Amino acid sequence: MRPIAPPDYLAGYPAHLADSVRETIACGKLGGILLKTYPQPHDVRTDRSLYDYVQAIRNRYLKNSAPLSKVAYDSKLQLLHKALGTHSTVPRVQGGKLKAKREIRIAGIFRDMPDAFLRMIVVHELAHLKESEHNKAFYQLCQHMEAQYFQLEFDLRAYLTYLDAGGEPLWPSTTSPTPGADG
Ligand SMILES: [Zn+2]
Repeated sequence: MRPIAPPDYLAGYPAHLADSVRETIACGKLGGILLKTYPQPHDVRTDRSLYDYVQAIRNRYLKNSAPLSKVAYDSKLQLLHKALGTHSTVPRVQGGKLKAKREIRIAGIFRDMPDAFLRMIVVHELAHLKESEHNKAFYQLCQHMEAQYFQLEFDLRAYLTYLDAGGEPLWPSTTSPTPGADG
């Protein structure tokens, strides 16, 4: 495998915004700002509770979408600047018929984040049930499910940039996850 450059989480933003995040990180202030805005981690610790969390949002906004067969945290999922989670449609034969199996995997790093960031990535992956591309309709759907979607994505990307720069996790878990519980 050839080495890949670390992702630039702020690549999609105007230069002055990205620069201001990097400056805030460089002078050691970003962590405090994020903690003030998002003081608490969420408590969606297990795949089971993540499934319920995702279903609750799906049932509220996307009742008519295909049911989800699996929802899980995936610690092996690499964070990419375009794919913070994954959604996939796995074709499988069931009773002689080909059925699409819908799965949502959320990068394990989201286990130790505030509710707002988890909600943002869940909304993102749920929106992909309707729109596969990152187009206008896709982002409208994200905003429909979470009015603060763009602000949350920006703050999340600022946090990921901070971690990349060697910052300490801001919402570390008090108990380590059960080994192998990722499924
Ligand atoms: Zn996407």
